[in-house]
Amino acid sequence: MNVVVMGGGAAGFLAAITCAEAKTGGRVVILEKGSKVLAKVRVSGGGRCNVTHACFEPALLAQSYPRGGRALLGPFHYFQPRDIVEWFKARGVALKTEPDGRIFPTTDKSETIVNALTHAAKEAGVAVRAGIAVASVARAASSRFVITLNSGETISCDRLLLATGSGPQGYELARGLGHAIEQPVASLFTFNISDARLKDLAGISVPLAQLKIEETKLKQTGPMLITHWGLSGPAVLKLSAWGARTLHALGYRARLRVNWLGISAEEAARQIGSFKASNPKKLIVASCPFDLPRRLWERLVTAAGLEPNRAWANLSKVEAERLKDQLTGGTYDISGKSPFKEEFVTCGGVNLGEVDFKTMESKLCPGLYFAGEILDIDGVTGGFNFQSAWTTGWLAGRAMAAPLR
Ligand SMILES: Cc1cc2nc3c(=O)[nH]c(=O)nc-3n(C[C@H](O)[C@H](O)[C@H](O)COP(=O)(O)OP(=O)(O)OC[C@H]3O[C@@H](n4cnc5c(N)ncnc54)[C@H](O)[C@@H]3O)c2cc1C
Repeated sequence: MNVVVMGGGAAGFLAAITCAEAKTGGRVVILEKGSKVLAKVRVSGGGRCNVTHACFEPALLAQSYPRGGRALLGPFHYFQPRDIVEWFKARGVALKTEPDGRIFPTTDKSETIVNALTHAAKEAGVAVRAGIAVASVARAASSRFVITLNSGETISCDRLLLATGSGPQGYELARGLGHAIEQPVASLFTFNISDARLKDLAGISVPLAQLKIEETKLKQTGPMLITHWGLSGPAVLKLSAWGARTLHALGYRARLRVNWLGISAEEAARQIGSFKASNPKKLIVASCPFDLPRRLWERLVTAAGLEPNRAWANLSKVEAERLKDQLTGGTYDISGKSPFKEEFVTCGGVNLGEVDFKTMESKLCPGLYFAGEILDIDGVTGGFNFQSAWTTGWLAGRAMAAPLR
């Protein structure tokens, strides 16, 4: 029995290794279109590779996937973050958990992960062919797949795994074999915002911002970072993931309401009132009642229309209201998106209803399997995207090693 894995990324490698390690006697080949395998692993996590996330409860883990969480719930009972940590450990790679739950190799080098995967593939006898251009895939009458390369060479196999990530050819091949593709659109991006309140404040962050996209139900809470182009940080990235489809439909132009304090407007008003009462002589611009970076506070005070020499005692009711509004409900116009340099993914892909998540086999085309980002699955940032590639790759690899029916 021969197995071909199309795509030498995280999902394809784990699948091929798992299948070959089962030693069922068949040949396992990875066909990779690029000149090098595991290209995304190499650049992932800012060159450190955020392998997975320290979340070991399947139901909780599944909640980190704006698309695909429900389908992954079962698979996470078979192969979850604990399993991939063990998998690498068994192959000599030590991993460490950072305070926010992200898991990296202790070397802080993605090369460590690339080397472990390529070494394990070699040990298991997986044949890796890079720089391969596939012209077509057809299903022969014998139920075998016939893969024709651009060079004219043909390769036939009993089982075929499509693990081509978000590459368009993978979607086309899946479509050609009968599958529906949910429209691919970007997920995990930062917001481009040009606003005087943010100008020259790049690098400033707040620990708990509350964000809302006006005229939608999209909301998110968490740390936020001001960048040269607008806003980023966990709250923005999560909002972009959960809102990927809505924001795409809006052409990435929307109005973002920002609460910089993470407390209610009423509570902010109360704290402004009591600070005013106990610090009447202090200048407003120079004394902030909240745990907010000084330069950001100065900008918000200016945006509320307060002069720089105004003392707290002279803050009128209307001005206090304006200040509270800037702090807890200012609006910012999103004019576009930028990729988050450490991690970005595509949502959309092979329709999940057409795949058996016990085996990752197609329900429409026996012998065809899917794993990784080609599926309509994507996670928030933090190692969740690789985890879905490991989990689906492992399941597919195990199933492809089973004897032919
Ligand atoms: C810059 C960046 C950083 C990231 N960092 C992280 C991170 O730290 N943690 C995390 O969890 N996620 C991260 N991600 C997301 C993560 O890389 C992907 O979710 C993951 O790589 C998906 O794995 P995959 O094997 O499905 O697809 P890929 O890794 O995309 O692999 C697919 C492979 O298939 C090949 N291919 C495509 N078409 C064909 C074809 N027709 N024939 C043969 N081969 C083909 C491609 O060349 C590629 O090598 C990052 C993404 C980016 C872009």
